Amino acid sequence: MIRLTRKVFTDLSIWMIGLGLAIGLIFPFFITWMGIPSEYVFTPWFFGACVTAGVILGAMNIRLARMVVGSRLRLLAERMSHVTENLQGIKTGKDARSCNTDACLIAIDSEDELGESAVAFNTLVKTLAESMETESSLSDFTRMISSQLSLNDLTERALQQLLEHTGSAAGAILIESEGDLQVAISRGIRAIEDVIQSDHIKNVLRSEKKVHLSLPDDVRVEGVLTDFRPRDVVIEPIIYKDIILGVVLLASAASFSPDALTRLTLFCGGLALALHNSLLFDRLERLAALDPLTGIYNRRFGLTRLNEEFGRALRINAPLGVMMFDLDHFKQVNDTYGHLVGDRVLLRISQIARSVLREGDILMRYGGEEFLVILPGASVNDVSLAADRIRRLVAEAIVRDGDDQIQVTVSIGGTSFPEVNADSANDLVQQADKSLYLAKESGRNCVMLAANNA
Ligand code: GH3
Ligand code: MG
Ligand code: MG
Repeated sequence: MIRLTRKVFTDLSIWMIGLGLAIGLIFPFFITWMGIPSEYVFTPWFFGACVTAGVILGAMNIRLARMVVGSRLRLLAERMSHVTENLQGIKTGKDARSCNTDACLIAIDSEDELGESAVAFNTLVKTLAESMETESSLSDFTRMISSQLSLNDLTERALQQLLEHTGSAAGAILIESEGDLQVAISRGIRAIEDVIQSDHIKNVLRSEKKVHLSLPDDVRVEGVLTDFRPRDVVIEPIIYKDIILGVVLLASAASFSPDALTRLTLFCGGLALALHNSLLFDRLERLAALDPLTGIYNRRFGLTRLNEEFGRALRINAPLGVMMFDLDHFKQVNDTYGHLVGDRVLLRISQIARSVLREGDILMRYGGEEFLVILPGASVNDVSLAADRIRRLVAEAIVRDGDDQIQVTVSIGGTSFPEVNADSANDLVQQADKSLYLAKESGRNCVMLAANNA
């Protein structure tokens, strides 16, 4: 259609008035052709009346078009500007969901081009609202988890958000550590340790691709997985720079919507980075605290813990045992079998000590072949019992080097606060050290205790 002006309704007006004018001019000829005598028709008055009627009809048509079509288009424009305002608001942090309402949508009450454009507009608004909602929840999720460095806090918060945003009733985050899958967090999953062994999880680890199971077809998973009857289960890999860090497992009583599945994939992308940082932090923290040869606490970290425990013992008026042990004639072991064998002996001794000590006891490598143990709540007698077990087990242990069988012994000094006076944690260690020296003086492979000097 030829455009006359830059306004569609003005174009329409020109066409309609032009058409009215043309009809007004043609009409007198038409009715003479129909048999009306020309002397009645070809008069200025009759021509004038026909042209006026044609123009009036054209003008009424324009008015009607403006009322019927124009109002729809104005509504569309109004809604569009509302949606635009909403989108701009989202950029500055407003909620995207408010756009998925009557304020943004258009009633579909016309089965023609106007109806079709209303449907297309509504679909566009809904898609936009959903994608904005996903984007804003993803950025909230990423912001929230990226501030977490502790693995426990991170996985707990991430799982809670994943359950919420995907409508899942149960789930778990499993993390790969030294070739094994470990449960970082689990909510509502029954027998999670069995689930780890499932073929579905192994498939995801192998293929690094999501697995989506629609139950109850899969009888193996049903019944062992959750307390409720799951309808859908999804296992999504957590991948950081092509390396699989773990998987997220979610179970829902209803089917997952495509939107929920997309959200899960997007969230797992954010989770991968946060998890990578947290695992790195965890490893660095461990490196800073642990002795690389024996895997027990190093002196720096161990002494910090000792000071904390001494403060705590003072505060709650509880005993605090301390034990120091040193390998006897260890230099000879090194000289005879070499340093590497000596290292293996040190590792074995630390394992023996760890096996004797309780969960809350703190074992540290104090020096080259000297170990210090903090025993919260232990009296001198408790220290004595633990020390003697360590001494006996070490003396009985055999470290093999080819055909050689190496046996070592340890000398141990121990004490406990407040059975012995101590002004500080360091003071307590000095007293254990003195007892160790006495043990060495007394012929080695024995336990000496400092006690009852209060
Ligand atoms: P004593 O019964 O008086 O304690 O005799 P000792 O030979 O154990 O004592 P000494 O202090 O003379 O020697 C300690 C030895 O421990 C010397 C050193 O080579 C060895 N040692 C210290 N740290 C390590 C280590 O990390 N690995 C190995 N293999 N040996 C170590
Ligand atoms: Mg020694
Ligand atoms: Mg020594």
